[in-house]
Amino acid sequence: MSVADFQPVIGLEVHAQLLTRSKIFCGCSTEFGAPPNAHTCAVCLGMPGVLPVLNEKVVEFAVRTGRALECRINPVSIWSRKNYFYPDLPKGYQISQYDQPLCEHGALEIDGEDGPRRIRIRRIHLEEDAGKNVHDAGGGESLVDLNRSGVPLVEIVSEPDLRTSAEAVEYMKALRDVLVYLGVNDGNLEEGSFRCDANVSVMRKGATQYGQRVELKNINSFRFVQKAIDYEIGRQVEIIESGGKVAQETRLFDAVRGETRSMRSKEEAHDYRYFPEPDLPPLRIPAGYVERIEKELPELPRAKLQRFTARYGLPPYDAKILVADRALADFFEKVQAAYGGPAKKLANWFTGELLRLLKEESTSLGALKFSPGQFAALLKLVDAGELSNNAAKDVFAEMFRSGREPKDIALEKGLAQVQDSGAVEAAVDAVLAANPGEVEKYRAGKKQVLGFLVGQVMKAMKGKGNPALVNAALKARLGD
Ligand SMILES: [Zn+2]
Repeated sequence: MSVADFQPVIGLEVHAQLLTRSKIFCGCSTEFGAPPNAHTCAVCLGMPGVLPVLNEKVVEFAVRTGRALECRINPVSIWSRKNYFYPDLPKGYQISQYDQPLCEHGALEIDGEDGPRRIRIRRIHLEEDAGKNVHDAGGGESLVDLNRSGVPLVEIVSEPDLRTSAEAVEYMKALRDVLVYLGVNDGNLEEGSFRCDANVSVMRKGATQYGQRVELKNINSFRFVQKAIDYEIGRQVEIIESGGKVAQETRLFDAVRGETRSMRSKEEAHDYRYFPEPDLPPLRIPAGYVERIEKELPELPRAKLQRFTARYGLPPYDAKILVADRALADFFEKVQAAYGGPAKKLANWFTGELLRLLKEESTSLGALKFSPGQFAALLKLVDAGELSNNAAKDVFAEMFRSGREPKDIALEKGLAQVQDSGAVEAAVDAVLAANPGEVEKYRAGKKQVLGFLVGQVMKAMKGKGNPALVNAALKARLGD
């Protein structure tokens, strides 16, 4: 027996921070990176006697998420207290949703190893984040930062439909793309605004009953998800093969050692003593609310990818790069509409020059100085033979920096190709006269000499000759 004789079964619980400006139950800012405890008040510090007030934007973002993931939105959902003691949770409980979550029964399609796969989503519920313990802050003490306390989260729980660690990564990436497209999450794994727990079990192939599952906590990178799950699968298979039993527990992934280690034996729901939150009435969704949000849903990444390959005939590789960023995809469509030429040609400019310069100048699409029309005009100059591809790159770089018209830049830099056939012919004559030996070879059948002669003419014209004109003039003179 080996790992290959076992079927892994994986479900993910993703915690995503909603991009609201203020916290879920108070007016404190959700901004990342403030000095410790700068964004706190009596409510999120858990002082006695305060009352939570629900931030409406949080509900809007959660419903948007739910509908984009094909969930049913429950007209009434219930707030619950999840009780546990931890220093970063001053109230002694977290306000969450348990019995009746806001969204249920959704799905997300991903690319599986053998084609598209629908991963079912069991539920999406709202909750508040806890604070953060800062250990070894100096003087051997542990300190608590409550800036995160009360930051709104959605927890998106999948069914155990994933079968490999690669699928789990694919699902996590697809989910992040959707949330970022919706504008409800910044997709930032490093800052913890998108993180996941993985439930992993293994069963012998052909078995019908799932094995004992183990929860892997707080994984904050795509690479670690894959590593943690793979390690965990191997560990569980080894236990079963040596006749042991997998214990129900929560484990942490140690990124440095590349292994998971036991954190605590897993709590059951009853350990949290969930009960309805007495300070908040049930969340009621008004009639027509879901429909209104649905109408405002943007085209989602997967649909856009399919449209980009079908409508523009782009290879999936190019389409994926363009669609990865909603703003980039929008900009591409605007330039393409103004250009009207081969979309693949434009895609090359996007994946090459545009992305390179955006990165080099650390700027964003929102700060571009040129318009889609100017970008299109540049490509038309290349198509008309007035600019070589290389010269166009220089013009583009200048247009990127200054926002000036491509034609003006080309003229000023002397980059426009010489269209004057008289000038081309004069240069051709001079080159032929200076290279009688090569001309003889060509006429004797050594056709590859033509490349050399073209090069000589281009050199004589300081790279500004139109290559098509030069080629034609040379062949005419050589009697071809
Ligand atoms: Zn507050």
